[in-house]
Amino acid sequence: MHDTLTIKGSRKLDIEKVRKDFPILETTVYGYPLVYLDNAATTQKPLAVLKAMDDYYTTINSNVHRGVHALSQQATDAFELSRKKIAEFVGARHSYEIIFTKGTTESINLVAASFGRKFLKEGDSILVSGMEHHSNIVPWQMICEEKNATLKVIPVNEQGELVLDGLDKLLQSGVKLVAFNYVSNALGSINPVKEIIAAAHKYGIPVLLDAAQAVQHMEIDVAELDVDFLAFSSHKIYGPTGFGVLYGKEYWLNQLPPYQGGGEMIKTVSFEKTTYNDLPYKFEAGTPDMAGAIGLAAALDYLQGLGFPAIREAESELMAYATDVLQQIEGLRFYGNVANRAGVLSFLVGNIHPFDMGEILDKQGIAVRTGHHCAQPIMDQYCIPGTVRASLSFYNTPGEMDRLAAGIRKAVVLLS
Ligand code: PLP
Repeated sequence: MHDTLTIKGSRKLDIEKVRKDFPILETTVYGYPLVYLDNAATTQKPLAVLKAMDDYYTTINSNVHRGVHALSQQATDAFELSRKKIAEFVGARHSYEIIFTKGTTESINLVAASFGRKFLKEGDSILVSGMEHHSNIVPWQMICEEKNATLKVIPVNEQGELVLDGLDKLLQSGVKLVAFNYVSNALGSINPVKEIIAAAHKYGIPVLLDAAQAVQHMEIDVAELDVDFLAFSSHKIYGPTGFGVLYGKEYWLNQLPPYQGGGEMIKTVSFEKTTYNDLPYKFEAGTPDMAGAIGLAAALDYLQGLGFPAIREAESELMAYATDVLQQIEGLRFYGNVANRAGVLSFLVGNIHPFDMGEILDKQGIAVRTGHHCAQPIMDQYCIPGTVRASLSFYNTPGEMDRLAAGIRKAVVLLS
């Protein structure tokens, strides 16, 4: 019924049809139809992804790059084709600028360890923001500690926006790299990435963008952003778990020393000296996750089939609807109260503890996340232990938002 052309020429998503691609959405929890609103933690997987991975294992499973036999060559072709698709998806100039990792966390650890080892020295600093996920704080803290460098922070205001007034001054205080998120997983705020990247580049400082909560909601073009490194996780963009991506500009990747040693990342090894492989393999020690790469590429094909303009439209309509129904609940206050939000609604109601709210919602079949969302510093800033976080995908429906609102009201009655 919704399969009609919109004015902008993009097809509106037929949500009921789309939901059939995700069998888990048909399941029940405690006898209630599942309402899955924990998409920022991980997204559900469409059948196309499961089939691509199943096909890989049932028809061409073999170790890549090293084999002369047919299966190994087919697996290598499929693996490298996935890299090409992922490169095109983020707008990378070359496939070899795409490094395969275990996820955002490993991508950031790679840059922190490798960049830090080569470029950080005593008295230098790394600049992050006050709304980072722990995985974009701790790796930097670890390398700063090792190098006697310091971690500096771009402040966040009460609404959940980055305060950029003092950015220029901060950048001139020995900063060697800026690392921050495109979209906050705790607040949903969409950050002014272009402005920050341009400001850092004025001083020749490279920027790492944590796009873990951005790639699934909006098109990203690394060339247009002119970003130096970009990290994301496959499982948050409808692909398999345990797989992720680090994009790096060729210039920077060539500057950085390898992260881990082992097979694949070498050209020659002797006990006297080892020479390292070319990009991207220099950073991919050991047998890679072939099925992971193929699964992620299938997820991107699936999303491109739906069309990003249509995904964006469905999600922004749903965000607006959810915001509207939730803000009618007495005592509910949002954290991250900005107009420019993606995917995440973070809130508390009265003085109800988020865990209690989460448990009562769970018993009604509604999956939300509660707690500090691995972003303790921003929770500390708001002097709260955590929030309730409902995170949305294009496959969620207005009816599910009504169930969330009714579930919250029920929790309020039970807990008051
Ligand atoms: N960065 C952000 C903004 C996140 O939301 C997450 C996960 O929630 C991560 C990094 C870490 O991702 P992963 O656990 O997939 O490595």
